[in-house]
Amino acid sequence: MKVLYCDVCKKAVENPVPSRSFFHIADIDICEPCKDELDAAVKYTVRGKKPFDYSWFDELTLKLLRDGMQRGKIAAPKR
Ligand SMILES: [Zn+2]
Repeated sequence: MKVLYCDVCKKAVENPVPSRSFFHIADIDICEPCKDELDAAVKYTVRGKKPFDYSWFDELTLKLLRDGMQRGKIAAPKR
């Protein structure tokens, strides 16, 4: 059995399915719940930011991931 560990919440994911139950972004591995949090956090920020541009989009994603690794979870902005 294959087990991977999420870089953010440190939880183990058994038999990870890439892009389904486990995600690899830049050089960071994250599990599905963390990916959901990341998507929500990104979506929230994107809404107030125009025009859309991939350069800050990638930067934002990485910043949220790095912060998440330090805190042990993705910090979604307050809604
Ligand atoms: Zn996780």
